[in-house]
Formats: sequence, C-alpha cells, structure tokens
Amino acid sequence: MIRALYPGTFDPIHNGHVDIATRAASLFDELVIGIYDSPPKTLMFDTDQRLAMTRDALAHLPNVQVTPYRGLTVTFAHQIEASVVVRGLRAISDFEFEFQMALTNKKLAPDIEFVCLMTSLEYAYLSSSILKEIAVLAGDIVSLAPLGVQAALSARCSGLTPDKISTTPIRTSRD
Ligand code: ADP
Repeated sequence: MIRALYPGTFDPIHNGHVDIATRAASLFDELVIGIYDSPPKTLMFDTDQRLAMTRDALAHLPNVQVTPYRGLTVTFAHQIEASVVVRGLRAISDFEFEFQMALTNKKLAPDIEFVCLMTSLEYAYLSSSILKEIAVLAGDIVSLAPLGVQAALSARCSGLTPDKISTTPIRTSRD
C-alpha cells in the first residue's frame, strides 16, 4: 500500500491542482492533500476555508483525504506514513524550486521519494495568484476553478482592487 502526500498552500485550489490530485490519486493507493497552515506569503483564505474548498473540490475521489498541517512537510509525511511526496511542475521556474526542495527534503528524509507530475497543457499558465487576480478584476473564472471556489472568490473579491491582494508568487520554504 502506497500513501502519497500532495502538500501545498491551495489558496485557493484551482483546476491545475485538481488535475494533479486526480492523476496522483490514480497512481497511488491513498493520497493525502496537505494544506499548509501558515506559509510565508499573504493569503486570501484562512486554513479552514482552504480546507473546506479543497475537500469539496476533491470529494469525488474516494482515496483522497484533505488535512491541514504545520511545520516541515517531511515531518508531516512521516506522521501520516506517506512514502511519496507529490508536487506539480508548470515551468522551468517551478523546476528549479522543486528540484532544490526535493534534494533538501531527501537530505532530511531519505526514506521519502519526491515525485513531480507535469502540468496538463491546458493548466500550464494557471496559479492561485493568477486566479485571484482575474477574480478581483471580475474576469471569467468558470473554466479555471471548482464551483465552490468560484463562489468563494466572487464573494471575497467584490469591491476589492488588485492592490489589495498579493499576486506576487512568493515561494514557500516549508517543503
Ligand atoms: P506552494 O505554496 O506549495 O507552491 P501551491 O498551492 O501554489 O502551493 O501549489 C502546490 C503544488 O501544486 C506545487 O507543486 C505547484 O507547483 C503545483 N501547481 C500549482 N499550479 C499548478 C498547475 N497549474 N499545474 C500543475 N501543478 C500546479
């Protein structure tokens, strides 16, 4: 039995994340989505909201659980007995970061394997930051995010201006 962990900020979950989670769920017996509690970046949604939206978006996948965590990703992976950590890759810039994080995590936890799945071409441009920016500017997000996320973004973004959200992709140091 192989349990994998897909950790991230998911602020909020979008269709690129759903695609990676769906594909990882078909590769491994169990998949745990780890919602990182307090990344060093400005968040639009708190942990409970990110958890609820992610659970709702992935409820159709029977072997997927969604859990919040704090601290090192490899420590959480050990706690839940995950032997694989899954991440997604969109571009060369993702590769440099994920490569460094995978090597660092391998040093910290040699028993865990780090697997990167390539983005599907249709989501290669998509990030939570881009999604939030489009939502704030009242653009169409129908094909970009699950229904619950669309509703939450519409509610949160009405009246907001782009300078009121962080759209700078600040990298986290927790994984
Ligand atoms: P983090 O703060 O850990 O980068 P994110 O929620 O932004 O958290 O991303 C979680 C994971 O999902 C990362 O591995 C990221 O590269 C991946 N990811 C994000 N967007 C996409 C996408 N459009 N296609 C494939 N993978 C993606």
